[in-house]
Amino acid sequence: MGGVIGIDLDGVLADSVSKWLQYAEKEHGIKALKKDIIRYEISEVFTSLTHEEVLMGFKEIWKDYHAIGMESQDIPTILDNLRDKFEIYITTLNKNENVRHWLKDNKIAYRKLIVFDHHYEKHKLEEVSIYIDDFPEVITSVAKVGKTGILLRQPWNEEFAKENKSKNIRIADNWRHVEEILLDIK
Ligand SMILES: [Mg+2]
Repeated sequence: MGGVIGIDLDGVLADSVSKWLQYAEKEHGIKALKKDIIRYEISEVFTSLTHEEVLMGFKEIWKDYHAIGMESQDIPTILDNLRDKFEIYITTLNKNENVRHWLKDNKIAYRKLIVFDHHYEKHKLEEVSIYIDDFPEVITSVAKVGKTGILLRQPWNEEFAKENKSKNIRIADNWRHVEEILLDIK
């Protein structure tokens, strides 16, 4: 066994940002694409919105979870390929009750779903040695305690990805790359 992997939900498994953009256009008249979101904190990109308004949007879109797609259609197959080597935990801050339904509908197999109050708690799970996340701060805290962080490249973490020099941090360009990195870990 290669150990336990903690995989983030929003921005890693679930493409909730695309859905959020549709919501933002309808509710706030914001016209933008995923590539325009160059900060993790979306209210720093669209400064007419407050942090709370951004979060409200995510809360709203998860009510209609059927409409949220995956970050990659390959995810169920990839997780299946990793099953012999790793145990999968979903590590998220998303408290929505529909998360379990979404995972089930998308045929994403996992051992445990762990919901945190704060992103800085994530790295503390003793049994988890590898984390996959799109949030640089999570990946940084993971690397600091000597664990492996895999950052899934997104427009909002591009700058961090480019500047990363930590040997505990790997940058994955897409989900197939995530698979490659994981199968390569001894
Ligand atoms: Mg995320």
